[in-house]
Amino acid sequence: MKICSKCVLPETFPGISFNGEGVCNYCLSFGGMEGINREKVKYRQKFEDLIARCSKGSGYECLVCFSGGKDSTYTLDLLKNHYGLRVLAVTMDNGFISPVAIENIRRMVEGVGVDHIFFKPRFDLLKQIFARSATEVFYSGKTLQRASSICTSCISIVKFVALRIAIEQEIPFVGYGWSPGQAPIQSSVMRTNPSLIRAAQKSVQVPLVERFGREVNHYFLEEHHFKKTDFFPYNIHPLAFLEYNETEIYKRLGEFGWVRPEDTDPNSTNCLLNTYANYVHQQQFGYNPYAFEIAKMVREGVMSREEGLGRFEDPPQSEQLNIIKRRLGI
Ligand SMILES: [Zn+2]
Repeated sequence: MKICSKCVLPETFPGISFNGEGVCNYCLSFGGMEGINREKVKYRQKFEDLIARCSKGSGYECLVCFSGGKDSTYTLDLLKNHYGLRVLAVTMDNGFISPVAIENIRRMVEGVGVDHIFFKPRFDLLKQIFARSATEVFYSGKTLQRASSICTSCISIVKFVALRIAIEQEIPFVGYGWSPGQAPIQSSVMRTNPSLIRAAQKSVQVPLVERFGREVNHYFLEEHHFKKTDFFPYNIHPLAFLEYNETEIYKRLGEFGWVRPEDTDPNSTNCLLNTYANYVHQQQFGYNPYAFEIAKMVREGVMSREEGLGRFEDPPQSEQLNIIKRRLGI
């Protein structure tokens, strides 16, 4: 398997080509860190200006999508303790949270000092969604270049459930712990609006309703939510514009007693389903669904190429895959 000599993208990645030195077209079109650093300053300032103008009522100022994994945990701490926002943390229990991560979640909401909601969608429905996401392609090719189909189903429910709560409670910010590889800096401080959200929702809700019926509708916005145009929140992912250093993140989380689970794959610090989701994606498309984001982090110097390649080394244990398949009824 040919792999880019600069990043970690394999020859199986869609649209890839290599020059004579084995450098991929994604690396060749990378404009360097100067532009990114300028953007970082700009978006950080934009966020800080918005906070300063934020209403001083008694409600929550920021809902954080908190998975218990290292990045969203660190984001939770930043938004509460660095930015001083009144935070509501929301965790979706997809039925596959590592027991160690469950402990981390409890420890962190207590340690950081935030209100917290554990939201558990019906597992009979979720497991059908995950099982069919594994065998059928129902999202666009572009979406699937950056995340497995199982992850896309799961995270979409998280996003729209969070947005529903934010609109209903008039919370001005929804915070995510996307790593710098997972989302572009240009979307790190972005006001949502009804037409944008309607289009995004349609791309997920339609395929899900077609397959699983109207039961899934209450994880999405309804017509009355779209009418509350003034209360569409800003989506923010501060790890894009703040310093992202994994060693520092682990050190900070360790101060709260956060422990890295040992039963998850190298690209997750909370979810046991991820191993299976990655395995299925690899089988279907011939590359790991984390390849794109890890390549971006290698290109931007967040991690070394060796470290990046190391994230793909551990093949999943068949015993582990069988446990997940049984739980999904496959
Ligand atoms: Zn490359």
